[in-house]
Amino acid sequence: MICGAILAALLLALLFAAARALALPIPGLGGDAVSRIDLPQALPYDLPPVAGGGGAGLPLVMIDPGHGGFDYGARTPGFDEKVLTLGLALALRDRLIADGGLRVALTRTDDRFVSLEERYEAARRLGADLFLSVHADSVAGGEEAAGASIYTLSARASSAAALRFARRENASDSVNGQTLSGKSDAVSAILVDLSQRRTQERSERLAELIEREGAGILRFHPQARRSAALEVLRAPDVPSVLFESGYITNPREAARLMSASGRADFARAMSRAIRLYFARERYEAEQASARPAVASAIASSGSEP
Ligand SMILES: [Zn+2]
Repeated sequence: MICGAILAALLLALLFAAARALALPIPGLGGDAVSRIDLPQALPYDLPPVAGGGGAGLPLVMIDPGHGGFDYGARTPGFDEKVLTLGLALALRDRLIADGGLRVALTRTDDRFVSLEERYEAARRLGADLFLSVHADSVAGGEEAAGASIYTLSARASSAAALRFARRENASDSVNGQTLSGKSDAVSAILVDLSQRRTQERSERLAELIEREGAGILRFHPQARRSAALEVLRAPDVPSVLFESGYITNPREAARLMSASGRADFARAMSRAIRLYFARERYEAEQASARPAVASAIASSGSEP
């Protein structure tokens, strides 16, 4: 079960967005009378710094510690999800930087609220190559429920997100280097849809690697692989996975995930999965770039007298 706080945060973000533009006519007071709902503006969100050095050529991993600020996520006596997720995310950042060869950014490094849209938009704007959202699960009355699960965006949610994204971004934006500006809605929708399919395949690949590399290091739920309509995974051009690290409602599991050794295990397994993911990406890119050279070599050898 995905923690209800994701839904709550989504509703809140929608409410903020709606309230900024919302003007409700009041019956009986004439057409001009409106009532404005004053809600605080969304917090200004600067793009997070990128750590790891090595130049812009290195792959960039965006780690997203779930919740933060007034959004505690799941809570049980002694444990707050927002604290647990930040501890895991910081451990993974340090591990990835120590292992080298990657750049890393976090959507938050302290206890602050960041909307779901700001999280995946930050990944897009920084040109992240992967987005990993870290959470902890909860289940009412279930102290025994345990184990991590790995979520990707469900296919239906993914294509609905593609359409919505195409509409919203149609004015001026680009997806995977394809500029949408000036293209018709239909063409934009197709471009976004294509990009999203490739992104989905890569997301599934990362999920597989996390499950494989985590075996023997992390404890997984019997049904570890899942898909759902998760707002934070909706970037159409950044492969994205949400990792439910375990059950915060299970005191032993929560304590382990908060411990130095629990964080180290998480960081080790994730770092391995992420490195393998990029190794495969590099291999496939090399194969793809070698193909035209092979094809032209064959063509030119065939045309020789
Ligand atoms: Zn959560």
